[in-house]
Amino acid sequence: MALTGIQIFKLLPKTNCKECGVPTCLAFAMNLASGKAELDSCPYVSDEAREQLAEASAPPIRPVPIGKGVRGFTVGGETVMYRHEKTFYNATAFAAVVASDISDADLEKKLKVWNAFQFERVGLNLRPQMAALKDVNGDAAAFAKAAKTIAETSEFNLVLMSDNADVMKAGVEACASKRPLIYAATDANADEYGAIAKDNELPLAVKADSIEGLVALTEKLTGMGLKDLVIDSGSREVKQALEDQVAIRRAALKNGNRSVGFPTIAFPCEMASNLDMETLIAGMFVAKYAGIVVLSDFTGESIFPLLLERLNIFTDPQRPMTVTEGIYEINNPDENSPVLVTTNFALTYFIVSGEIEGSRVPSWLLIKDSEGLSVMTAWAAGKFAGDDVGVFVKKCGVADKIKHQDIIIPGYAAAIAGDMEEELPGWKITVGPREAAHIPAFLKAL
Ligand code: SF4
Repeated sequence: MALTGIQIFKLLPKTNCKECGVPTCLAFAMNLASGKAELDSCPYVSDEAREQLAEASAPPIRPVPIGKGVRGFTVGGETVMYRHEKTFYNATAFAAVVASDISDADLEKKLKVWNAFQFERVGLNLRPQMAALKDVNGDAAAFAKAAKTIAETSEFNLVLMSDNADVMKAGVEACASKRPLIYAATDANADEYGAIAKDNELPLAVKADSIEGLVALTEKLTGMGLKDLVIDSGSREVKQALEDQVAIRRAALKNGNRSVGFPTIAFPCEMASNLDMETLIAGMFVAKYAGIVVLSDFTGESIFPLLLERLNIFTDPQRPMTVTEGIYEINNPDENSPVLVTTNFALTYFIVSGEIEGSRVPSWLLIKDSEGLSVMTAWAAGKFAGDDVGVFVKKCGVADKIKHQDIIIPGYAAAIAGDMEEELPGWKITVGPREAAHIPAFLKAL
C-alpha cells in the first residue's frame, strides 16, 4: 500500500538541505507521494528508509520500457483513472500481427507499407510501433528468421508470440538487442518463460484466464525477480475485456494492489470479424486502458484515426500544446514578402503554416506567445491584445528582415487593429481571413 506524504516525511533526514531541488524534506515527501519526484533525488536517505520508501513510492502501475530506437516506448506509469484528473503519461502502443510463415518477399512488402504510416501532426510524428510476430506452425527457424528481419530491416519493435519455449528462445536470440516483449507466460509455462525473460533481461507478458489468475502469476514471476511485466486477463469477449481493463486499473490505483500494477495488452484482432469493428474496439482500449493494442494489420483507414485518438487522449489537458514564440519563414520569404501574425496554440500554428505553405506564397509568420490559446480565446482572455501584439512585432526583429511595414492579423482578432496601429505608427494593419482555409486565396490576391 502506498505511503502518505507524512508517512514518507517521517523516514526522511529532515535537514531541509534542498539538494533534492525543493526547499524542505516535507515538500519532497509530498512530491514523492504524488509521484512527482524520484527517491534517488535525495542522497541522504538511509538504506533502511530507502528500502521502505522504494517500495512505497514506486508508481502504482509500473512503467515498462519496450523496444529500442525511434519506435521504442514505455507503457504503464499511469496515476489516474480519468485523464482530466491529471493526465495520462505513456501512450498506448500499436502492434499488428505478422504470421511466422510469411514469405521473405511478403514480409519485406508488409514492412514497407507499414513504415509509410507516419503522420505529422502538431510537430509530432504519429506512427505505430510494433510488429506482433505470431508463431503459427512451431517452426523455430522460420520464427527466428522473421524476427531477425523485422529487427534488422525495420524500425518496428517486436512482440514475440509463441507458446512453444523452443520457438520463443530462437526468436529471442534473433532480436534480443531490440528488447522485444515476450508473449506470454501462462500457468503452464511460467517457470520456463520467466527464466527466458530473466536471462535476457526482457519484458514479459503474462496471460491468465481471469484477473485472479493474473494475480497468482504475477506474484510468482515477481518472486523470481521479474519486474517488467505486461498483463493480459485473457478475455477475448469485448464487454468482459473492457471490464477487466477497468478493474485492473482500479485495483492498482485505488486499492494499491501491486499484483496487477502493470500495463496491459489487449487484442482487438481476436475480438472482431471485420476491420471497422476491430478499429472501434481498439479505440475503446486506447481510452480504457490498454498499454499495447494488437491489431490484425495496419491499414491507413484504421491506424490514422487511432493515432489521432491516441494523441488526444495522451495530451496533457492542463497544458495546451504550444509552439515557440518567434519568426517562422515559410516558402523562403524575402524582404518584400507578406508578414502574418497569430497565436502560439500548436494547432493554430500548424493549420496556418500549412495553409501558407500550400499557397506557395513566400511569407513571414510571426508567432506571438498567447499561453497556448487559439486566436479568439486568446483575444477574449487578453492574451492577444493589440498593444501586446504591437510590442511583440517591434521586439521580434521582423522589421530588419523586410522593406515594407504591412502586417496581416487574423480575422477573428480584427478588433485589435486600432491598438496595434497606435503601438506601430507607420504600419499598415490588414485584417486577414477568419478561416485558415481562406489564407491561400488571400495571399495570392495581395
Ligand atoms: Fe530533505 Fe533529502 Fe531533500 Fe535534503 S535532499 S531537503 S534531506 S529530502
